[in-house]
Amino acid sequence: MLGGLSLGLGACKTSANMVAAKGKKIISLSFDDGFKKSFYQIAEIYERYGLSACFNVIASGHLPTFQQVDNWILPKLLGNFDDWNALHERGHEIMPHSWKHLNLAMQPVEKSKDLIDQCLDYFEENLEGFKSEEAVFNFPFNASTSELETYLLSKVRAIRAWGDSSIHPLVKTKNPISLGCTTMGSGNVDQWVDEKIANFLCSSEGWLILNLHGLNGEGWGPISPKYLDKLLSKLVEINEVEIKPTGMVLKDAF
Ligand SMILES: [Zn+2]
Repeated sequence: MLGGLSLGLGACKTSANMVAAKGKKIISLSFDDGFKKSFYQIAEIYERYGLSACFNVIASGHLPTFQQVDNWILPKLLGNFDDWNALHERGHEIMPHSWKHLNLAMQPVEKSKDLIDQCLDYFEENLEGFKSEEAVFNFPFNASTSELETYLLSKVRAIRAWGDSSIHPLVKTKNPISLGCTTMGSGNVDQWVDEKIANFLCSSEGWLILNLHGLNGEGWGPISPKYLDKLLSKLVEINEVEIKPTGMVLKDAF
């Protein structure tokens, strides 16, 4: 891949120099779950280019009650709100990724609503500067229902869930909105990210949201730090491209 960083070999045959089609393009790499080691490393890589990373964390991930989710979200790998406040202080975005990473679409609806409230309340109390009405709520497993989306959109700026397309029109509304994303796993997804971005660069304009997780072996569908570094180094050279966290895109849209 590196060396073969194929940006440019996508469907529209963007050149290897990553010349994008004309028109503004925003890219949000939306990192989930709160892997402490990975998130600090991602932050360092973003900071090399003066960029803010987009992090989504589980509200109770650091508490003794938190239980492992599948093979990837292990309690010992997760950071706490001292870490999240420190990363926020450094200019990165920290957004909610549920209370304890249950599939909310599979729970009784009242239970899911309570878990959503518990998550947002905890963020309000523990993350400096956090306001629910400015937040992007990132559904665990990207699994939502229309009832839960309606419920959340009365409380937050946006929700992120599964979408057939991960490319959106540039946002021109102050109303709460649903953002679709795509994701890939369970092994390394450098190549998948590469192809998605290469194809996106051929579009006339828009906002691409890719849901990622950790680096190296951490999380479902990790990417390599070398690849992330090289990717950002190339993208920042393209005038048409902005790399931003989702909440910041919405905040800066007006
Ligand atoms: Zn997750």
